[in-house]
Amino acid sequence: MKGTCLCGTVKFVINTTVTGLYQCHCKLCQKQSGSTSNTATIVKEKDFEWLSGMNSITHWKKDTGFTSDFCSTCGCPVPNKLRDLKYYWIPMGLFDSQDIPVIAHLCCNSKAFWDALPAKGKKYEEMPDDLEDFISRLQKKP
Ligand SMILES: [Zn+2]
Ligand SMILES: [Zn+2]
Repeated sequence: MKGTCLCGTVKFVINTTVTGLYQCHCKLCQKQSGSTSNTATIVKEKDFEWLSGMNSITHWKKDTGFTSDFCSTCGCPVPNKLRDLKYYWIPMGLFDSQDIPVIAHLCCNSKAFWDALPAKGKKYEEMPDDLEDFISRLQKKP
């Protein structure tokens, strides 16, 4: 499955079957997305590959570790490596077609006033306690 930024400079591919997405409604993701939340998935490092545009990515990191990587030309959020873990965070809007359900909503306690949470998907008040277990539920079991 191939993804691209708005201007097409940054291209990447993920080589695994993603079965679930999540939306994070925290204040940081609201700012980073400019909206209610990020819709994303997380894949193993070995299943992720850059195709082009790596040198056109601006990296920004908050003291807490929150990172925002974006295309220097069009400003579109692009995948980034999850801290020191062997995973990549993948913003799902970068794929042209997708029919993968949102299975979880994170940080619901922080949601914007104008954010209407849908009925479907497990709701977490904050981040999941067991991140590795959470990530494993976003992909088809090998
Ligand atoms: Zn771009
Ligand atoms: Zn968030």
